[in-house]
Amino acid sequence: MQHKTIIEPFRIKSVEPISVSTEAERTQYLKDAHYNPFLLRSDNVVIDFMTDSGTSAMSAKQWAGMMEGDEAYAGSRSWLRMEAEVRDLTGMPHILPTHQGRAAERIIYGHLGGPGKIFISNTHFDTTRANIEFSGATAIDIPIAENKDTALQHPFKGNMDVGELDRLLKEHKGNVGAVILTVTNNSGGGQPVSLANAEGVSAICKLHGVLFLLDCCRISENSWFIKHRENGMEELSYREIAQRMFALTDGAVMSAKKDALVNMGGFLALKDEALAEACINLLIITEGFATYGGLAGRDMEAIAIGLREIFDPSYLDYRIKSTLFLGKKLHELGVPLMLPIGGHAVYVDAKKLHPHIPPHAYPGQALVGELYILGGIRTVEIGSVMFGTYNADGTLKPAPMELVRLAIPRRVYTQSHIEYVIETFAEIMKRCEQVRGLRITKEPKFLRHFTAHFEPLK
Ligand SMILES: *Cc1c(COP(=O)(O)O)cnc(C)c1O
Repeated sequence: MQHKTIIEPFRIKSVEPISVSTEAERTQYLKDAHYNPFLLRSDNVVIDFMTDSGTSAMSAKQWAGMMEGDEAYAGSRSWLRMEAEVRDLTGMPHILPTHQGRAAERIIYGHLGGPGKIFISNTHFDTTRANIEFSGATAIDIPIAENKDTALQHPFKGNMDVGELDRLLKEHKGNVGAVILTVTNNSGGGQPVSLANAEGVSAICKLHGVLFLLDCCRISENSWFIKHRENGMEELSYREIAQRMFALTDGAVMSAKKDALVNMGGFLALKDEALAEACINLLIITEGFATYGGLAGRDMEAIAIGLREIFDPSYLDYRIKSTLFLGKKLHELGVPLMLPIGGHAVYVDAKKLHPHIPPHAYPGQALVGELYILGGIRTVEIGSVMFGTYNADGTLKPAPMELVRLAIPRRVYTQSHIEYVIETFAEIMKRCEQVRGLRITKEPKFLRHFTAHFEPLK
């Protein structure tokens, strides 16, 4: 018999309580947090969809591996395991461990960047853009045109515009730091990138002699979409598809907090020896020695195991289909979404949900507040709070989209948690016309969404 019910392909061995609060309590908590969910205490959150980063539940095997962790300063056995696993997956000879993705980003983009340099991506993730801009360089996003229309169906909406890439590489000849393909395209709606697109990007980079890097945080989720949507890929395993993609690149940056199923970790993988040596120098100065790079031996052990588990077909099937289940149900309720549904998250189009709130009153941040007050559901705005900038006259230059991301932690929530979220959205749909926008009362220069303070508009 072919079952329609998607079950979590695991049993629960260890549980963590969720504290349930009332709407009145949450109204106060949100006010105390200056309407910024990053400033809430996690104890006051019912369902935490803020991020899928570092929030995974580890397996019994990973926990057992933690006990096996070799905490030697140099030449740790756990490092050798992690290195072998990452080498086998990426096919790259030089592997640098880092404490998370952005540490790898700071090292490589700090080294390749600087004033006058440009970086080109399908969409730079927020920390990627920040590390590039912090070096003085410029980050340019060139997703395919289809990416901007949230309602449009396209199998690989995370793809890079290769025609535009070719044009930019000609225009900026000699000043390109790197081309970065982010899979799946997180800030661009969690949308997958096809192998054909990666091949196109690779060929153009080779032609122009430019470094091609993969931001591979969600490489296994991306492989699921390739296997099921791209011609000729059905017979390959998820891992083989990932390996084909790595083979097209010169290097990769990974936040292991995503598709390595761990709470902390990352790496930088490189083909070129001279570039790797320069990066290792920076690694030792700021992260740690080359055989631990800011990680404990037990963390490296868990990464080595997680990188295998993530390609398990039953896990990946459950992962993608359960995200789709949430998306489908919200779509049926009439919630405007980024379509098709991506791998790790469902993205709500807040511009369409709150057409009465202009970008400078942050329609996405308004929805984030509503979801928290009504259901204790913590989400994150990916719109003009995160990516908006200011014009010379002080007015807001809005982001291209006003999205709210419901990122689903891996192996953490069950079907009934998801049903609870769907029920909350039914109520959201009844009230969305009365929701008010916000204004920013305090903000830092970089990555303002993490610490900014807000105030509801009268
Ligand atoms: C999370 C993430 C990063 C940064 O990784 P951290 O581990 O959070 O520092 C970089 N790129 C993408 C696409 C990400 O999702």
